Amino acid sequence: MESYWKSVLSAESSRAAYQSAVTARNQQLGAFLEFDPERGAAVSAEHCLEAVNRGQRAGDNPPDSALATVERLPFAVKDNIAVDTFSLTCGSRMLERFRSPYSATAVARLCAAGATVVGKTNMDEFGMGSATENSALAQTHNPFDRSRVAGGSSGGSAVAVAAGMVPFALGSDTGGSIRQPAAFCGVYGLKPTYGSVSRYGLVAYASSLEGIGVLASSVDLTEAVFQVMRGQDEMDHSSLATPAELVGASSVAQTGTRVGVLTGDLGLDDQVAAGYQRSIEVLQQLGYRFERVELPTLEYCVPAYYTIAAAEASANLARYNGVRYGLRPDYAENPEELVRAAREQGFGPEVKLRILLGTYVLRSGFQDQYYLRAQKIRTAIRNDLTRIFQSVDLLFMPVFPVQAFGHGAEGLSPFQQKLADRFTSTANLSGLPALALPMGLENGLPLGMQLMAPAFHEHRLFQVARVLEEELPPPVPPQYPPLWQSHTVPE
Ligand code: GLN
Repeated sequence: MESYWKSVLSAESSRAAYQSAVTARNQQLGAFLEFDPERGAAVSAEHCLEAVNRGQRAGDNPPDSALATVERLPFAVKDNIAVDTFSLTCGSRMLERFRSPYSATAVARLCAAGATVVGKTNMDEFGMGSATENSALAQTHNPFDRSRVAGGSSGGSAVAVAAGMVPFALGSDTGGSIRQPAAFCGVYGLKPTYGSVSRYGLVAYASSLEGIGVLASSVDLTEAVFQVMRGQDEMDHSSLATPAELVGASSVAQTGTRVGVLTGDLGLDDQVAAGYQRSIEVLQQLGYRFERVELPTLEYCVPAYYTIAAAEASANLARYNGVRYGLRPDYAENPEELVRAAREQGFGPEVKLRILLGTYVLRSGFQDQYYLRAQKIRTAIRNDLTRIFQSVDLLFMPVFPVQAFGHGAEGLSPFQQKLADRFTSTANLSGLPALALPMGLENGLPLGMQLMAPAFHEHRLFQVARVLEEELPPPVPPQYPPLWQSHTVPE
């Protein structure tokens, strides 16, 4: 064990030193809900290898370079993704004492490649939120300015990476939950093509929109982790193998890439608007060809997203009834009261709001009015994007209309936060891959933009991101330099 940590951590560091440094940073930032590298090292190797062979097609075999990149790296996992014997709280009182009896396929594939889970990260309860302020269990702060939020819902994972505690972390993205905190904290955040990474072991919020992805400190690492995790899995029937013609597609820079940018008033604040403009100029100087594109359905993304997400959440969360698992009240007169008390005590206000909203849009006789309409909008959004990707190779967009905002009343109201999901929810409604990239600092805070590509064309995202990384390396918060040796493979 000791030699493992020596090889991973910077020169004279030891596991004990790493552990105490992470613990100290965590006290300031609240990234981890559980931090236990010993436990992670004990996750059964046999069990992990089994997940690799469970339905993965030959075309999905990760390249040797990807396996070598992740080997021996410590990583963190959002607390709605199962890791054997670790907590799986989903940031909720409901599951505060729950321990996972198995590992998610994505986690197991990384462990089989030699990476080690070091802990579980804080999140908005069940993934519902944009600031990690809806966690019932801890407060998370932005490492660039602790009076500001980290973004959400994968806020803990973004902070663990940005504050140098781990080189990469897993998150989930239902409407922007990987990309938005990545943008707020200055790291890379990939939301892969729907189905390309198995959802087995991801606690469901809105199943048709979400997936597991990665937050990392470099483009190489983001790509390597994705390549190790992706591929079909017989435990998730919506998982898909990489199409044969795209297996091994190169992510080496190509000239002549056509990039679409959005026109019109995008409702960005001054800093983000200036940052978007500046990023476009940087790309132009690098030789990318730009095309202005119209996305008329953009304004319908948020209502469609929240209608569908709430509807699916109200069904998915029905299982937390205090009987099979979840919080069980000390006393109840009868089964009905038991369920009522468990849900009343176990769920926070945002979760209750969405269950109510979901039940409302799904109630009989009214589905035409809300849910089916939202599905039609979803199809229109998909068609819009299909049309756009006939004339451009990639789409370049903001992630969020503002940078990291303040905590509580200093920040955005829950309603404003929802409205601000318009740029990210597009990729979830359409199932397309998108990558948030750090584009330097503006007023001392990270600024993030995103690239979106056609399904299974993640390699295009990495292609451009790699070129931009040379120009604009990710910012490092001055107080939190990385605790591990740079992400090259340790000797
Ligand atoms: N902010 C969005 C929501 O609250 C996104 C959440 C997510 O991607 N999990 O639903």
